[in-house]
Amino acid sequence: MKLNGNFQKLEQNYLFVTVAKRVAAYTAAHPDNHIIRMGIGDVTLPLAPVVIEAMHRATEEMSKKETFRGYSPDSNGYPFLREAVAGYYRSLGVELSAEEVFIGDGAKSDVGNIVDLFDVDNTVLVPDPVYPVYVDTNILSGRKLIYADGTEENGFLPLPDDAIHADIVYLCSPNNPTGAVYDREQLQQWVDYALAHHAILLFDAAYESFVTGAGLPRSIFEIPGAEQCAIEFCSLSKTAGFTGMRCGYTVIRKELTVDGVSVSALWERRQGCKFNGVSYVTQRAAEAVFTPAGQQQIRETLAYYQANARTMAQALREMGIWFTGGENSPYLWMKCPGGMGSWAYFDYLLEQAEIVGTPGEGFGKNGAGYFRLTAFGDAAQTKEAMDRLRFLGK
Ligand code: PLP
Repeated sequence: MKLNGNFQKLEQNYLFVTVAKRVAAYTAAHPDNHIIRMGIGDVTLPLAPVVIEAMHRATEEMSKKETFRGYSPDSNGYPFLREAVAGYYRSLGVELSAEEVFIGDGAKSDVGNIVDLFDVDNTVLVPDPVYPVYVDTNILSGRKLIYADGTEENGFLPLPDDAIHADIVYLCSPNNPTGAVYDREQLQQWVDYALAHHAILLFDAAYESFVTGAGLPRSIFEIPGAEQCAIEFCSLSKTAGFTGMRCGYTVIRKELTVDGVSVSALWERRQGCKFNGVSYVTQRAAEAVFTPAGQQQIRETLAYYQANARTMAQALREMGIWFTGGENSPYLWMKCPGGMGSWAYFDYLLEQAEIVGTPGEGFGKNGAGYFRLTAFGDAAQTKEAMDRLRFLGK
């Protein structure tokens, strides 16, 4: 018997585990601490009232024989939710059918599971720095990875290089960890690259609801040609506070085929084989997010986080610290002051200001010397953290 040897190729310590250990050690040594956590990207505000009401109604249905629901007839989601998501895309100017929307338990699962569809010999291009799941899931399935460098020079928005061939390309915009957002023209370059190279673009739109900039795309399907080469992953985690609820969606257009094989048909087959769908109650809750009242209520919550991001951006700007993000994203990606390394700055901030952030190095080699702060915290604490940062100086 042999285990999957690829597990040995993974980084031994997951980034957030290392961070948590260092914070625990600091807390044990300083029991009276007032740590402000701006590290992990979890939301902190409760679900919208319409979501709670929808869950109550759905729970009532589950309590009666006449309305009880067991296994979903379709593991890809109830039609009411697939229709609601398609309607949301329509509001972005993207026409797609409900059958092109696949409901899942969040973007992490779908982004991770999509690799089941692809041959192990494909070359996979990921940006660096990057959300670690893209890298780890491909290492586990034994694929070759190449990297597109995100740097201060390109604003952490690497563009395609036609001389380098890839079969699968991961993009994340607005980006985790850098908060940088591709514009329409830049995304068109990636779509054109994918079409020319017969590659598939895996577009992670988990933070699309933070885009406010005029003309900036929220979906890859706003870009002509993307329907033939892209798969989009999105989630209600950050959009509507569903990190503990678990609901997301993946969009695969009918036009996406490889050698005459429908990619959405393969995904249906994959999900049918390994997934039994998201709970009925959660799907009713998700449906409520897409109602007019739901959209208004989640906008209020998003505005709270966006105000935090503005507070943080203003502090960094005043201090003359270079950063990306914060404007169309809950993440701010700052250059560590004084040429400090990411882990050195992590320790410095923890010890001198009791602020926890995430060392950029944990997201790839180009993250060395950078640091990620998140805007998902409490508003008063965010202000307090920025005052502590100003006090520390550059
Ligand atoms: N994609 C990106 C870029 C993320 O940052 C995250 C979560 O932080 C996810 C996907 C996973 O989200 P979900 O909660 O939907 O699994």
